[in-house]
Amino acid sequence: MMMKTPDMSTPAQNFFGTTELQLKKLFSEWKEQPYRVHQVFTWVYHYHCRDFNEMTNLSKSLRSRLAENFYFALPKIQSRTHSKDGSIKYLFELDDGAVVESVWMPSDSRNTLCLSTQVGCRLNCTFCLTASLGLKRNLTAGEIIGQHLAINQEQEYQITNIVFMGMGEPLDNYGPVVDALRLMTSPEAMKISTRKITVSTSGLVDKMKAFQEENLAINLAISLNASDNATRDRLMPINKKYPIEVLMDCLKKYPLKPQRRHTIEYVLLADINDSDEDARRLAKWLKDVPCKINLIPFNSFDSSEFRPPSEERVLNFQNYLIEKNFSAFIRQNRATDILGACGQLAAQSASVIPLRGMKANDEHNALDPVSN
Ligand code: SAH
Repeated sequence: MMMKTPDMSTPAQNFFGTTELQLKKLFSEWKEQPYRVHQVFTWVYHYHCRDFNEMTNLSKSLRSRLAENFYFALPKIQSRTHSKDGSIKYLFELDDGAVVESVWMPSDSRNTLCLSTQVGCRLNCTFCLTASLGLKRNLTAGEIIGQHLAINQEQEYQITNIVFMGMGEPLDNYGPVVDALRLMTSPEAMKISTRKITVSTSGLVDKMKAFQEENLAINLAISLNASDNATRDRLMPINKKYPIEVLMDCLKKYPLKPQRRHTIEYVLLADINDSDEDARRLAKWLKDVPCKINLIPFNSFDSSEFRPPSEERVLNFQNYLIEKNFSAFIRQNRATDILGACGQLAAQSASVIPLRGMKANDEHNALDPVSN
Protein backbone atom coordinates (compact mmCIF):
# COMPACT_ATOMS: atom_id res chain seq x y z
CA MET A 1 0.00 0.00 0.00
CA MET A 2 1.33 3.39 -0.96
CA MET A 3 1.17 5.81 1.90
CA LYS A 4 1.76 9.50 1.66
CA THR A 5 2.24 11.87 4.52
CA PRO A 6 0.17 14.96 3.92
CA ASP A 7 2.31 18.09 3.60
CA MET A 8 1.21 21.46 4.90
CA SER A 9 0.67 23.18 1.54
CA THR A 10 -1.61 20.53 0.00
CA PRO A 11 -3.35 18.61 2.74
CA ALA A 12 -3.72 15.18 1.18
CA GLN A 13 -6.90 13.26 1.72
CA ASN A 14 -7.66 9.59 2.24
CA PHE A 15 -8.90 8.22 -1.08
CA PHE A 16 -11.12 5.77 0.80
CA GLY A 17 -14.19 7.73 1.70
CA THR A 18 -13.80 10.18 -1.19
CA THR A 19 -17.09 10.07 -3.09
CA GLU A 20 -17.60 9.99 -6.83
CA LEU A 21 -19.18 13.41 -6.62
CA GLN A 22 -16.19 14.91 -4.79
CA LEU A 23 -13.78 13.41 -7.30
CA LYS A 24 -15.87 14.56 -10.26
CA LYS A 25 -15.80 18.09 -8.91
CA LEU A 26 -12.05 17.97 -8.46
CA PHE A 27 -11.50 16.50 -11.91
CA SER A 28 -13.57 19.24 -13.47
CA GLU A 29 -11.34 21.82 -11.72
CA TRP A 30 -8.35 19.94 -13.09
CA LYS A 31 -9.92 19.95 -16.58
CA GLU A 32 -10.03 16.16 -16.63
CA GLN A 33 -12.85 14.23 -18.32
CA PRO A 34 -15.53 12.90 -15.93
CA TYR A 35 -15.02 9.32 -17.18
CA ARG A 36 -11.56 9.40 -15.61
CA VAL A 37 -13.31 9.15 -12.24
CA HIS A 38 -14.73 5.80 -13.29
CA GLN A 39 -11.27 4.64 -14.31
CA VAL A 40 -9.74 5.58 -10.97
CA PHE A 41 -12.57 3.94 -9.02
CA THR A 42 -12.23 0.77 -11.09
CA TRP A 43 -8.52 0.56 -10.24
CA VAL A 44 -9.10 1.12 -6.57
CA TYR A 45 -12.26 -0.85 -5.86
CA HIS A 46 -12.26 -3.54 -8.55
CA TYR A 47 -8.52 -4.17 -9.06
CA HIS A 48 -7.58 -3.23 -5.48
CA CYS A 49 -4.78 -1.02 -6.76
CA ARG A 50 -3.28 1.20 -4.06
CA ASP A 51 -0.68 3.05 -6.15
CA PHE A 52 -1.71 5.78 -8.58
CA ASN A 53 1.45 5.14 -10.61
CA GLU A 54 0.13 1.74 -11.60
CA MET A 55 -3.01 3.25 -13.15
CA THR A 56 -1.61 2.99 -16.63
CA ASN A 57 -4.65 4.19 -18.55
CA LEU A 58 -4.31 7.62 -16.89
CA SER A 59 -1.90 10.28 -18.06
CA LYS A 60 1.34 10.61 -16.10
CA SER A 61 0.38 14.10 -15.02
CA LEU A 62 -3.00 12.97 -13.63
CA ARG A 63 -1.32 10.11 -11.82
CA SER A 64 1.14 12.36 -10.09
CA ARG A 65 -1.53 14.92 -9.31
CA LEU A 66 -3.62 12.21 -7.67
CA ALA A 67 -0.61 10.98 -5.72
CA GLU A 68 0.01 14.50 -4.43
CA ASN A 69 -3.56 14.91 -3.27
CA PHE A 70 -4.57 11.48 -2.04
CA TYR A 71 -3.24 8.62 0.03
CA PHE A 72 -4.72 5.23 0.89
CA ALA A 73 -5.26 4.46 4.55
CA LEU A 74 -7.34 1.76 6.21
CA PRO A 75 -8.09 1.50 9.92
CA LYS A 76 -5.39 -0.62 11.54
CA ILE A 77 -6.46 -4.00 12.94
CA GLN A 78 -5.20 -3.94 16.50
CA SER A 79 -6.65 -7.26 17.62
CA ARG A 80 -8.94 -10.10 16.66
CA THR A 81 -11.03 -11.94 19.25
CA HIS A 82 -12.46 -15.27 18.15
CA SER A 83 -15.85 -16.47 19.37
CA LYS A 84 -16.76 -20.12 19.75
CA ASP A 85 -19.41 -19.62 17.08
CA GLY A 86 -16.87 -18.59 14.44
CA SER A 87 -17.46 -14.83 14.72
CA ILE A 88 -14.46 -12.56 14.99
CA LYS A 89 -14.48 -9.23 16.79
CA TYR A 90 -12.00 -6.78 15.30
CA LEU A 91 -10.58 -3.92 17.27
CA PHE A 92 -9.51 -1.13 14.93
CA GLU A 93 -7.17 1.68 15.72
CA LEU A 94 -7.87 4.92 13.85
CA ASP A 95 -5.46 7.68 12.82
CA ASP A 96 -5.85 9.63 16.07
CA GLY A 97 -5.56 6.56 18.27
CA ALA A 98 -9.33 6.22 18.78
CA VAL A 99 -10.59 2.64 18.67
CA VAL A 100 -13.76 1.03 17.31
CA GLU A 101 -14.99 -2.51 16.88
CA SER A 102 -16.53 -4.51 14.05
CA VAL A 103 -17.82 -8.05 14.19
CA TRP A 104 -17.51 -10.58 11.38
CA MET A 105 -20.20 -13.26 11.60
CA PRO A 106 -20.00 -16.20 9.23
CA SER A 107 -22.88 -18.64 8.75
CA ASP A 108 -23.80 -21.27 6.18
CA SER A 109 -25.64 -18.86 3.96
CA ARG A 110 -23.89 -15.52 4.48
CA ASN A 111 -21.00 -13.67 6.03
CA THR A 112 -22.32 -10.64 7.84
CA LEU A 113 -20.25 -7.69 8.95
CA CYS A 114 -21.52 -5.55 11.80
CA LEU A 115 -19.76 -2.21 11.63
CA SER A 116 -19.43 0.93 13.72
CA THR A 117 -20.24 4.49 12.73
CA GLN A 118 -19.12 6.43 15.81
CA VAL A 119 -16.56 6.14 18.57
CA GLY A 120 -19.06 5.75 21.39
CA CYS A 121 -22.58 7.11 21.15
CA ARG A 122 -24.52 9.97 22.68
CA LEU A 123 -28.00 8.49 22.80
CA ASN A 124 -27.56 6.99 26.23
CA CYS A 125 -29.82 3.95 25.89
CA THR A 126 -29.73 2.45 29.36
CA PHE A 127 -29.32 -1.20 28.25
CA CYS A 128 -26.44 -0.59 25.81
CA LEU A 129 -22.78 -0.88 26.78
CA THR A 130 -21.59 1.50 24.05
CA ALA A 131 -23.60 4.26 25.73
CA SER A 132 -21.26 4.18 28.72
CA LEU A 133 -18.54 5.71 26.51
CA GLY A 134 -20.49 8.80 25.57
CA LEU A 135 -19.74 10.13 22.09
CA LYS A 136 -16.02 10.53 21.49
CA ARG A 137 -16.24 11.32 17.80
CA ASN A 138 -17.89 10.52 14.48
CA LEU A 139 -16.20 8.20 12.02
CA THR A 140 -15.37 9.48 8.55
CA ALA A 141 -16.81 7.76 5.48
CA GLY A 142 -13.33 6.32 4.87
CA GLU A 143 -13.22 4.82 8.36
CA ILE A 144 -16.67 3.31 7.89
CA ILE A 145 -15.98 1.59 4.57
CA GLY A 146 -12.41 0.97 5.78
CA GLN A 147 -13.68 -1.57 8.34
CA HIS A 148 -15.19 -3.54 5.46
CA LEU A 149 -12.17 -3.21 3.17
CA ALA A 150 -9.67 -4.15 5.88
CA ILE A 151 -11.61 -7.25 6.94
CA ASN A 152 -12.37 -8.40 3.40
CA GLN A 153 -8.70 -8.08 2.60
CA GLU A 154 -7.73 -10.69 5.17
CA GLN A 155 -10.71 -13.06 5.04
CA GLU A 156 -10.83 -16.03 2.74
CA TYR A 157 -14.61 -15.68 2.51
CA GLN A 158 -15.97 -12.35 1.36
CA ILE A 159 -18.49 -10.32 3.31
CA THR A 160 -21.98 -10.77 1.83
CA ASN A 161 -24.15 -8.69 4.20
CA ILE A 162 -23.54 -5.53 6.16
CA VAL A 163 -25.40 -4.33 9.22
CA PHE A 164 -24.82 -0.87 10.69
CA MET A 165 -25.38 -2.15 14.22
CA GLY A 166 -22.02 -1.69 15.86
CA MET A 167 -20.92 1.26 17.97
CA GLY A 168 -22.83 4.47 17.43
CA GLU A 169 -26.07 5.76 15.99
CA PRO A 170 -25.66 5.79 12.19
CA LEU A 171 -28.17 8.58 11.59
CA ASP A 172 -26.45 10.76 14.19
CA ASN A 173 -23.41 10.72 11.87
CA TYR A 174 -25.53 11.39 8.83
CA GLY A 175 -23.24 12.80 6.10
CA PRO A 176 -20.36 10.32 6.45
CA VAL A 177 -22.79 7.38 6.74
CA VAL A 178 -24.61 8.43 3.55
CA ASP A 179 -21.29 8.89 1.74
CA ALA A 180 -20.17 5.45 2.94
CA LEU A 181 -23.46 3.89 1.75
CA ARG A 182 -23.06 5.53 -1.67
CA LEU A 183 -19.56 4.12 -1.99
CA MET A 184 -20.71 0.70 -0.84
CA THR A 185 -23.61 0.50 -3.28
CA SER A 186 -22.18 2.32 -6.30
CA PRO A 187 -21.48 0.03 -9.25
CA GLU A 188 -18.32 2.06 -9.81
CA ALA A 189 -17.07 1.42 -6.28
CA MET A 190 -17.85 -1.45 -3.91
CA LYS A 191 -20.90 -2.65 -5.85
CA ILE A 192 -22.80 -4.14 -2.91
CA SER A 193 -26.53 -4.74 -3.40
CA THR A 194 -28.76 -2.39 -1.38
CA ARG A 195 -30.67 -5.52 -0.29
CA LYS A 196 -27.63 -6.72 1.60
CA ILE A 197 -27.20 -3.62 3.74
CA THR A 198 -29.23 -2.74 6.83
CA VAL A 199 -28.91 0.51 8.75
CA SER A 200 -30.15 0.30 12.31
CA THR A 201 -31.47 3.40 14.02
CA SER A 202 -32.85 4.26 17.40
CA GLY A 203 -35.50 6.25 15.54
CA LEU A 204 -34.20 9.74 14.77
CA VAL A 205 -37.34 10.65 12.87
CA ASP A 206 -36.06 13.84 11.22
CA LYS A 207 -32.97 12.03 9.96
CA MET A 208 -35.08 9.09 8.79
CA LYS A 209 -37.13 11.51 6.69
CA ALA A 210 -33.97 12.99 5.18
CA PHE A 211 -32.60 9.49 4.63
CA GLN A 212 -35.60 8.39 2.58
CA GLU A 213 -34.99 11.35 0.25
CA GLU A 214 -31.49 10.08 -0.51
CA ASN A 215 -33.08 7.32 -2.60
CA LEU A 216 -30.58 4.81 -1.43
CA ALA A 217 -33.15 2.02 -0.94
CA ILE A 218 -31.18 0.64 1.99
CA ASN A 219 -33.02 -1.55 4.51
CA LEU A 220 -33.86 0.16 7.77
CA ALA A 221 -33.97 -1.51 11.15
CA ILE A 222 -35.64 0.43 13.92
CA SER A 223 -34.84 -0.21 17.55
CA LEU A 224 -38.24 0.00 19.19
CA ASN A 225 -37.49 -1.92 22.36
CA ALA A 226 -40.63 -0.96 24.28
CA SER A 227 -44.38 -1.05 23.78
CA ASP A 228 -45.28 2.10 25.72
CA ASN A 229 -43.81 5.58 25.89
CA ALA A 230 -43.08 5.55 29.61
CA THR A 231 -40.89 2.45 29.31
CA ARG A 232 -39.27 3.63 26.09
CA ASP A 233 -38.51 7.02 27.67
CA ARG A 234 -36.66 5.17 30.37
CA LEU A 235 -34.77 2.79 28.07
CA MET A 236 -34.10 5.20 25.22
CA PRO A 237 -34.10 8.90 26.16
CA ILE A 238 -34.45 9.80 22.45
CA ASN A 239 -38.09 8.71 22.84
CA LYS A 240 -38.82 11.99 24.61
CA LYS A 241 -38.04 13.77 21.35
CA TYR A 242 -39.56 11.20 18.99
CA PRO A 243 -42.21 9.19 20.85
CA ILE A 244 -43.58 5.91 19.54
CA GLU A 245 -46.59 7.40 17.71
CA VAL A 246 -44.33 9.82 15.80
CA LEU A 247 -41.94 7.02 14.90
CA MET A 248 -44.79 4.77 13.74
CA ASP A 249 -46.26 7.54 11.64
CA CYS A 250 -42.89 8.02 9.94
CA LEU A 251 -42.60 4.27 9.24
CA LYS A 252 -46.09 4.04 7.77
CA LYS A 253 -45.28 6.82 5.32
CA TYR A 254 -41.77 5.63 4.50
CA PRO A 255 -41.64 4.51 0.86
CA LEU A 256 -40.48 0.92 0.42
CA LYS A 257 -39.45 -0.95 -2.70
CA PRO A 258 -41.61 -3.96 -3.62
CA GLN A 259 -40.93 -7.02 -1.47
CA ARG A 260 -39.16 -4.96 1.18
CA ARG A 261 -40.11 -4.47 4.80
CA HIS A 262 -38.67 -2.62 7.72
CA THR A 263 -37.09 -4.58 10.51
CA ILE A 264 -38.32 -3.78 13.98
CA GLU A 265 -35.78 -4.62 16.66
CA TYR A 266 -37.06 -5.35 20.12
CA VAL A 267 -34.56 -6.08 22.87
CA LEU A 268 -36.26 -8.33 25.41
CA LEU A 269 -35.51 -7.36 29.01
CA ALA A 270 -36.86 -9.53 31.82
CA ASP A 271 -39.77 -7.91 33.67
CA ILE A 272 -39.32 -4.64 31.82
CA ASN A 273 -40.80 -5.11 28.34
CA ASP A 274 -41.47 -8.85 27.98
CA SER A 275 -45.01 -9.30 29.30
CA ASP A 276 -48.05 -10.58 27.39
CA GLU A 277 -49.39 -7.07 27.64
CA ASP A 278 -46.22 -5.75 25.97
CA ALA A 279 -46.64 -8.22 23.12
CA ARG A 280 -50.25 -7.11 22.67
CA ARG A 281 -49.34 -3.42 22.62
CA LEU A 282 -46.46 -4.05 20.23
CA ALA A 283 -48.76 -5.88 17.82
CA LYS A 284 -51.17 -2.96 17.97
CA TRP A 285 -48.50 -0.37 17.15
CA LEU A 286 -47.20 -2.42 14.25
CA LYS A 287 -50.56 -3.34 12.75
CA ASP A 288 -50.15 -1.23 9.61
CA VAL A 289 -46.37 -1.10 9.45
CA PRO A 290 -44.82 -3.31 6.75
CA CYS A 291 -42.26 -5.05 8.91
CA LYS A 292 -40.70 -8.14 10.32
CA ILE A 293 -39.83 -8.26 13.99
CA ASN A 294 -36.49 -9.29 15.41
CA LEU A 295 -36.66 -10.15 19.08
CA ILE A 296 -33.26 -9.81 20.72
CA PRO A 297 -32.93 -11.43 24.14
CA PHE A 298 -30.81 -9.00 26.14
CA ASN A 299 -27.07 -9.60 25.87
CA SER A 300 -25.65 -9.21 29.35
CA PHE A 301 -22.59 -7.36 30.47
CA ASP A 302 -21.18 -7.00 33.95
CA SER A 303 -22.29 -3.50 34.84
CA SER A 304 -25.87 -3.93 33.65
CA GLU A 305 -28.94 -4.01 35.87
CA PHE A 306 -30.93 -5.82 33.14
CA ARG A 307 -31.37 -9.53 32.54
CA PRO A 308 -32.60 -11.53 29.55
CA PRO A 309 -36.03 -13.18 29.97
CA SER A 310 -36.38 -16.93 30.32
CA GLU A 311 -36.49 -18.95 27.12
CA GLU A 312 -40.15 -19.68 27.77
CA ARG A 313 -41.00 -15.98 28.07
CA VAL A 314 -39.18 -15.22 24.82
CA LEU A 315 -41.06 -17.98 23.00
CA ASN A 316 -44.40 -16.83 24.43
CA PHE A 317 -43.71 -13.32 23.21
CA GLN A 318 -42.76 -14.57 19.76
CA ASN A 319 -45.76 -16.92 19.55
CA TYR A 320 -48.21 -14.16 20.30
CA LEU A 321 -46.78 -12.07 17.46
CA ILE A 322 -46.85 -15.03 15.08
CA GLU A 323 -50.50 -15.67 16.01
CA LYS A 324 -51.17 -12.07 15.04
CA ASN A 325 -49.64 -12.83 11.64
CA PHE A 326 -46.33 -11.04 12.10
CA SER A 327 -43.03 -12.48 10.94
CA ALA A 328 -41.31 -12.56 14.29
CA PHE A 329 -37.84 -13.99 14.72
CA ILE A 330 -35.58 -14.51 17.64
CA ARG A 331 -32.24 -12.98 16.80
CA GLN A 332 -29.53 -15.53 16.99
CA ASN A 333 -27.10 -14.21 19.56
CA ARG A 334 -23.68 -14.12 18.03
CA ALA A 335 -20.34 -13.61 19.67
CA THR A 336 -21.80 -13.17 23.16
CA ASP A 337 -18.78 -14.95 24.65
CA ILE A 338 -16.47 -12.18 23.43
CA LEU A 339 -18.74 -9.19 24.12
CA GLY A 340 -19.29 -8.96 20.40
CA ALA A 341 -23.08 -9.07 20.32
CA CYS A 342 -25.57 -6.24 19.89
CA GLY A 343 -25.03 -3.57 22.49
CA GLN A 344 -21.90 -5.17 23.89
CA LEU A 345 -19.38 -3.21 21.85
CA ALA A 346 -17.33 -0.73 23.78
CA ALA A 347 -13.84 -1.29 22.42
CA GLN A 348 -12.72 -3.05 25.57
CA SER A 349 -10.79 -6.25 25.75
CA ALA A 350 -13.13 -9.22 25.92
CA SER A 351 -13.93 -10.41 29.38
CA VAL A 352 -15.53 -13.78 28.97
CA ILE A 353 -19.11 -13.96 30.14
CA PRO A 354 -21.43 -16.95 30.10
CA LEU A 355 -23.24 -17.57 26.87
CA ARG A 356 -26.86 -16.65 27.47
CA GLY A 357 -29.97 -16.41 25.39
CA MET A 358 -31.66 -18.61 22.87
CA LYS A 359 -30.31 -21.60 21.06
CA ALA A 360 -31.20 -22.69 17.54
CA ASN A 361 -32.66 -25.95 18.72
CA ASP A 362 -36.35 -25.64 18.21
CA GLU A 363 -38.21 -25.71 14.97
CA HIS A 364 -40.71 -23.31 16.40
CA ASN A 365 -37.95 -20.98 17.43
CA ALA A 366 -37.56 -19.21 14.09
CA LEU A 367 -34.13 -17.71 13.95
CA ASP A 368 -33.15 -14.77 11.92
CA PRO A 369 -29.42 -14.43 11.62
CA VAL A 370 -28.99 -10.70 11.93
CA SER A 371 -30.14 -9.43 8.54
CA ASN A 372 -32.06 -10.28 5.41
N1 SAH B 1 -27.79 2.95 17.45
C1 SAH B 1 -28.36 2.01 16.55
C2 SAH B 1 -27.45 0.85 16.18
C3 SAH B 1 -26.63 0.19 17.25
S1 SAH B 1 -27.39 -0.91 18.39
C4 SAH B 1 -29.70 1.53 17.07
O1 SAH B 1 -30.09 1.92 18.16
O2 SAH B 1 -30.40 0.81 16.36
C5 SAH B 1 -27.94 -2.28 17.46
C6 SAH B 1 -29.09 -3.02 18.15
O3 SAH B 1 -28.64 -3.63 19.37
C7 SAH B 1 -30.23 -2.11 18.55
O4 SAH B 1 -31.46 -2.69 18.16
C8 SAH B 1 -30.16 -2.07 20.06
O5 SAH B 1 -31.42 -1.87 20.62
C9 SAH B 1 -29.61 -3.44 20.38
N2 SAH B 1 -28.92 -3.56 21.66
C10 SAH B 1 -28.21 -2.63 22.31
N3 SAH B 1 -27.73 -3.11 23.46
C11 SAH B 1 -28.15 -4.39 23.54
C12 SAH B 1 -27.93 -5.45 24.48
N4 SAH B 1 -27.19 -5.27 25.54
N5 SAH B 1 -28.52 -6.63 24.24
C13 SAH B 1 -29.25 -6.84 23.12
N6 SAH B 1 -29.43 -5.90 22.18
C14 SAH B 1 -28.91 -4.69 22.39
